[in-house]
Amino acid sequence: MSKRISAASLVLLMTTAAAWAAPELKMDLPDWKTTPVVDRNLGHGVHMLESFGGNIGVLAGASGVLLVDAEWPQLNSRVQDAIARIAPQPVRYVIDTHWHWDHVGGNADFARRGALVISSRETHDYIVAAQRSAKAGDAQYFPDAAAVPAFALGPGTQRFYIAGQTVEIFHAPPAHTDGDLVVRYVEADVLQTGDTFFHGFYPDIDFEHGGTIDGMIALYDILYQMCGPRTKVIPGHGPVATREDLRTYQAMLRTVRQRVAQAMARGLTEEQLIASHPLDDLDKTWGGNLVKQPYLLAIVYEDLKLHALAPHVESP
Ligand SMILES: [Zn+2]
Repeated sequence: MSKRISAASLVLLMTTAAAWAAPELKMDLPDWKTTPVVDRNLGHGVHMLESFGGNIGVLAGASGVLLVDAEWPQLNSRVQDAIARIAPQPVRYVIDTHWHWDHVGGNADFARRGALVISSRETHDYIVAAQRSAKAGDAQYFPDAAAVPAFALGPGTQRFYIAGQTVEIFHAPPAHTDGDLVVRYVEADVLQTGDTFFHGFYPDIDFEHGGTIDGMIALYDILYQMCGPRTKVIPGHGPVATREDLRTYQAMLRTVRQRVAQAMARGLTEEQLIASHPLDDLDKTWGGNLVKQPYLLAIVYEDLKLHALAPHVESP
């Protein structure tokens, strides 16, 4: 999810002629002390830890533990406890799928215990920039060198060999952001998508940091090809998914994109688009979590406007 969002109440700041403000989701934070971290054992030493923030992937082996994403810092001790129940070895590597706080907030805690934090170059740069612009007292991205990834991956696919297994790190083309990493645990047949995929609810697209709905739609062809019929998919948020869930999600994204583009081609403003409720039929399936229809319409509208793609209407 974006650094701006996470749970129940939604505040949408809409475009006006005078001043434009990015759509914003405001979060209600949980009671951290009672927020569970649930362990899903996916086999071959790979686990998914599920809690309030982004899902964590864990690969445990004799030489140490590799983590993919690091959760909110308030949950760090619970995440550490969950990892300790999986394996006694220390966390050696933390891979950030992207820069949003609910995926990287725990970076510093793991780094101070000796882990190497790894990300894309874009994610590194966004975390550095966010720390530079943080104000005194901010609870997120406050200046802390330990929270900055120490190793940045370039384009293409990199491989880790850990615990006798192959972990492929794929730098995705722009989708949720332009620095998304997708992780494939080859022998375990598990794919971890980061926030390019929310299983069961509408997406967030960080168009201010290179994300695009067209990139999201295109990425699903790649993600599908990275999967076999029995692949378990760790989404950025939501429960473990299958290859077919990726296809279903892509179809929803296409429908949303098409309806927003059609409205823009007809000359609707963002406010008129939102007022027309074009996604009411989809809400039953996809609108039951954090991301609601008005927010999604606003970000897709702004994304298409930013990328000057409004006149193009994709066929269904
Ligand atoms: Zn995100």
